[in-house]
Amino acid sequence: MSGNPAVVMRLVASAYSVAEKAGAIVRKVLHSGDLGIVEKTGANDLQTLADRLAQKSICASLYRSFPNITIIGEEDLPSEEVQEDLIESGQAEEILQKSCPEDYKALKEEELVVWVDPLDGTKEYTEGLLDNVTVLIGIAYEGRAIAGVINQPFYNYQLGSGAALGRTMWGMLGLGAFGFELREVPADKRIVTTTRSHSNKTVTDCVNAMEPHEVIRVGGAGNKIIQLIEGKASAYVFASPGCKKWDTCAPEAILHAVGGRLTDMFGNTYCYNADVKHMNSAGVLATLRNHDYYVSRVPPSVQQALKSE
Ligand code: AMP
Ligand code: MG
Ligand code: MG
Repeated sequence: MSGNPAVVMRLVASAYSVAEKAGAIVRKVLHSGDLGIVEKTGANDLQTLADRLAQKSICASLYRSFPNITIIGEEDLPSEEVQEDLIESGQAEEILQKSCPEDYKALKEEELVVWVDPLDGTKEYTEGLLDNVTVLIGIAYEGRAIAGVINQPFYNYQLGSGAALGRTMWGMLGLGAFGFELREVPADKRIVTTTRSHSNKTVTDCVNAMEPHEVIRVGGAGNKIIQLIEGKASAYVFASPGCKKWDTCAPEAILHAVGGRLTDMFGNTYCYNADVKHMNSAGVLATLRNHDYYVSRVPPSVQQALKSE
């Protein structure tokens, strides 16, 4: 298999190595002590030096190996020469060794769209809630999220210097997901995870309508999907615009690869073609199981609020 892997397998293998490099950049900027914070649309929409450097690294590295793919990154950056030390050219061998699912064997670079969130959970990064932070690289084909990589740069940081810091998860439709142990919340328990820094009345009304036994408020779209696949939450409920396609593409691919679902609050799947609008205007609802229950609990007032966007 390693002789001539399919283009998409090479792309996922590169995305894995590139996400690890981006994770190292995110750690390094934190340790430098100067985050270089810029407000984008306001105090709850921040960009740091880590967001900027990580995106430069990811985009320049992937374009160098795959010049004909389309990459859409969160940050608006001036086009300039990228320093050579930001380039990562490795490809994860573990991924190159896997057999490509039949449906994706013949895909060409031109047909692939890569959605990049170089640092998801920036607000939490600036507040020291470091395990909320992820690097997200999602790969779409014909509008569907088919593969994704999530790096969690500060995984294990609370355990101190002895523990290995950071980890990388990846998944692909038809292959499964790797780099974590899949666990589920017991079926009779509803634990809802939602935003901690972008809440409003509609968000809270919708969470309450799910009749949760417990609500967890944490930062990051990637982080909330990790909670779902590791058995810490049963549903990610965010009944508001605010999340964008780069927040959901990689998480959706990994979740779908293990049989879960990510949709808007009406149960409709988002499209990841290069020309779609970036905002997930009708909210985000993600589950490992029982998706229809959560869709059925969304109150009409919340549906109305999201439709009128
Ligand atoms: P959260 O769950 O609040 O951490 O949000 C998940 C992702 O969506 C992060 O990338 C946020 O930056 C983004 N997001 C959600 N709501 C908003 C908002 N109102 N303004 C800007 N970004 C948002
Ligand atoms: Mg994000
Ligand atoms: Mg981001």
